[in-house]
Amino acid sequence: MDTTTIRLGETLRMLSARGFITTKYVSGGGRIFEGDLHCNSGTVRVQVCLDDWDFISYPRITLISKPAFLPSLMAHVDVLNGLCYFSPGSVVLDRYDPATAVAQCLDQATTVLEKIVSDPKYCSDDFQDEFLTHWVYGQLSPPWPVVLCSTSSENAYCEYYLVGDAPERKAVIATNYADVQILATTLGCAPPKTSRCKCWLFRTERRPVLPDDAMPATIKELFFWLKKWDFALYNNIQRVLEREKEYLNAAFVTFAIDTPKGWIGFGFELDQMMRLGYRDAPKRFKQYLHRKGGLKPIFRVDITDIRADFIHSRNLVFKDLKEKRLTLVGCGAIGGYLVQALVRLGAGTGCRGELVLIDSDTIGAENLGRHYLGMTALFKSKAEALRQEIYRQFPYVRISVQTQAVRATSKFFTGDLIIDATGEEAVSEMINENHLRQKIKVPPVLYVWIKGNGECVQSLFVDSKRHGCFRCLRLPDTNRFREERFPTIRRPPQRQNFGCRSFTPYAVSAPMHAASLATDAVIDWMKGDPSPRFRTRYIEKTDAKIVKNQNISPLKECQACGSQ
Ligand SMILES: [Zn+2]
Ligand SMILES: [Zn+2]
Repeated sequence: MDTTTIRLGETLRMLSARGFITTKYVSGGGRIFEGDLHCNSGTVRVQVCLDDWDFISYPRITLISKPAFLPSLMAHVDVLNGLCYFSPGSVVLDRYDPATAVAQCLDQATTVLEKIVSDPKYCSDDFQDEFLTHWVYGQLSPPWPVVLCSTSSENAYCEYYLVGDAPERKAVIATNYADVQILATTLGCAPPKTSRCKCWLFRTERRPVLPDDAMPATIKELFFWLKKWDFALYNNIQRVLEREKEYLNAAFVTFAIDTPKGWIGFGFELDQMMRLGYRDAPKRFKQYLHRKGGLKPIFRVDITDIRADFIHSRNLVFKDLKEKRLTLVGCGAIGGYLVQALVRLGAGTGCRGELVLIDSDTIGAENLGRHYLGMTALFKSKAEALRQEIYRQFPYVRISVQTQAVRATSKFFTGDLIIDATGEEAVSEMINENHLRQKIKVPPVLYVWIKGNGECVQSLFVDSKRHGCFRCLRLPDTNRFREERFPTIRRPPQRQNFGCRSFTPYAVSAPMHAASLATDAVIDWMKGDPSPRFRTRYIEKTDAKIVKNQNISPLKECQACGSQ
């Protein structure tokens, strides 16, 4: 017998010992079983579908019976009575011990049901947490898909637009037509089509509550549930229905609510005769909605948020770079990768946010083997070509470009953070000297560079005289000319010479390494503590000396920041 058969046998024995019987064979070696889960309050008849012996997805457990002791609306039970007992990816089931794995699932399913019955708070808490899933997918009728492109604090509603051609056509809501135009261009679609319909915007700090018996299906049920969820929110919606007669111009009206669990949307059709009759008396129309009109069904709106706020902060547990003003000097190998990271962290977004790119150089064939940009950027200004590339990806990011050589004037030392990714020590020393000389409060400067042939990468964050400056990385002793204070590489790097020109060879991994080091330094600054200010990261195969990550002390004799 092969191992698969043995394992299947063990699983079957376990299931039959628990009273489960095979009711169906499914293609690909799967089986469906039926049996009881034993909870304290009674048994629940379930179906278990085992068709993935790799356990990439968990066995599907579906409630066949819904005994009276179970509440009518349950967390973790979808509209088809499927039970979610492990959240996807939370547990890895052991493919080498399927009997135990399946037993684990049955036990967990029993525990979840047990908790739903015995702990109403658990049930409603979890329901609130997964409300959006219940709202969008957990019901039989499909929701209306809508893309949320922009919002603004001045606008109470979004307009509807159509972008693209069927079948990929998207309904897009936005407060500003220009935003939708940019989106259409970015997606390679024709200019958006406008419509008369509106989506009114609201916000609440409260999680949506568990409805009493069932999800709201009519306007009256919707109002009832909104009242239970957040009375102020309910009132705001009533106020729109009562006062804003524009909504009566379209055949339907929709609402989008920004909740702590994501955007929740719904809407309903407006009776043609009634809305035309009351087109100047929205208050009367609202009254109608509370009477006979309230029996009409609602529809749910599935809102996909594509606003910069969502895109750049979704993966973060700290505040992104929105509203920050950043200057990046050097758009070469390091800067090219670094700017990609900065933009993903939200650089250049928000009404005040800006990213300044400074580089006087153009892209040559010699750069392409280790630069983010490719052939399309050849012979172009590095800074300008990077801006074009970022616009192609994130058209709303605000970037300005300076193609003259960097000059460390007082105008240069403005904004929130300056990053020197030139990797050229002479430039860094010039910036450092002028940085220290500024009389007014200036933004911190982050320096990042590659050592030798890429054995390690380093960064230094300079934000106060209490810590060492860029020049403090060199010994001030003139007898030991420019000797390093924290030596790393043991021999001079390999150089390659072409006539009078030479360069240090390193592969593309080195600037990527440096860019990720600098990104983490920026993230720590965003989180409020830039320590350790001096950082070194090594590649695995190097005999370079290990330098501790630390806040370096200023040297009294430092030519740049010292007191002498
Ligand atoms: Zn769940
Ligand atoms: Zn110094």
